[in-house]
Amino acid sequence: MATHTTRMLIIGSGPAGYSAAVYGARAGMQPIVVQGLQPGGQLTITTDVENYPGFADVIQGPWLMEQMQKQAEHVGTRMMWDTIVEVDLENGSPFRAVGDSGDEYVGDVLVIATGAQAKWLGVPGEQELGGKGVSACATCDGFFYRGKKVAVIGGGNTAVEEALYLTNHSDDVTLIHRRDELRSEKILQDRLHASDKITPLWNKAVESFEAGEDGKLHHLNLVDTVTGEKSTLEVDGAFVAIGHAPSTELFKGKLEMDDGGYLVTEPGTPKTAIPGVFAAGDVMDHTYRQAVTAAGTGCMAALDAERFLATLEYAAKEAEAAE
Ligand code: FAD
Ligand code: NAP
Repeated sequence: MATHTTRMLIIGSGPAGYSAAVYGARAGMQPIVVQGLQPGGQLTITTDVENYPGFADVIQGPWLMEQMQKQAEHVGTRMMWDTIVEVDLENGSPFRAVGDSGDEYVGDVLVIATGAQAKWLGVPGEQELGGKGVSACATCDGFFYRGKKVAVIGGGNTAVEEALYLTNHSDDVTLIHRRDELRSEKILQDRLHASDKITPLWNKAVESFEAGEDGKLHHLNLVDTVTGEKSTLEVDGAFVAIGHAPSTELFKGKLEMDDGGYLVTEPGTPKTAIPGVFAAGDVMDHTYRQAVTAAGTGCMAALDAERFLATLEYAAKEAEAAE
């Protein structure tokens, strides 16, 4: 078991973590990024990205994240393929974290950029049929439903994008939403309504996912959220796209969280209540949750981290001089 020491420890390798690393490395903080189970973060499970500034043409999410990783490495970041399972924030700087590998990571400052992960409906059959018709990632699993009937559940950007993406594989896509109004951006709604392969099903909630004789998903049991009327929908694949929850389990009882489990920071900054611990990206942002805002707060975390270290080092020098 090794101990890896750095001035700047970053947990998470999405746009927030990589941006913090680029700024941190250029400021001489020799960052370590512990990448977690999803190196590159959420954008690695999408296809087209057309709202990240700097690219005139549509780019691919996985490609963008590969570029961010390489950029961070070029300026001197060390990448670790490990997942943090424990953190010790109680004793102040330096902060300690333990990886799944058993390795220990020690950082004078800590940037938490653990992002978010897909939410599930929590209804019968959902987990049992995972990988047998039920998925939370159309770009990962859509290919398996070529020429088949599929449904997407949700009404946000992710759901609409997933439905549009699935039209590459299927001519029969149903978008199931619990209300009769989408919350996704207008441009995506326009594309959805322009597609003759997508049928929206309004005011419907999934009560259960049911298997056929082959043990794979056969149909969904639905309930009308207005009238209470029950119905069924036969599908081969169902994609749950109802949003994401922040990955903050590690910090329970250690850092303040809001009702949704997002880390609370000083308004307008990535500073948590513990000096030297910063939170950036989706893990602290329940409002914007975009790649560009995650990258922005990652940058802010690195700049604040640099200032924190400078103050710490100045105080240490003053104390030494006074001795
Ligand atoms: P994330 O991207 O969520 O990354 C979190 C990182 O933390 C991961 O690398 C994970 O492995 C790591 N991690 C978690 N726990 C641990 C741990 N214990 N130890 C170590 N590492 C850990 N935004 C846009 O701007 N444009 C888009 O087109 C767009 N499309 C999207 C499509 C989909 C399908 C989804 C799901 C999201 C999309 N978004 C888009 C939103 C965007 O992806 C997020 O806002 C952004 O990725 C958040 O970045 P982040 O760095 O905060 O976290
Ligand atoms: P979201 O915006 O939170 O939308 C979640 C959707 O799922 C909502 O329509 C919600 O319904 C529905 N829902 C939630 N819980 C449900 C339940 N238990 N049963 C049924 N339906 C449920 O999540 P998201 O679409 O994943 O987007 C997350 C963030 O990433 C957003 O900030 C989004 O802008 C961003 N993103 C951006 C892009 C892009 O820019 N192209 C693409 C994807 C994601 P209600 O509407 O009734 O609440």
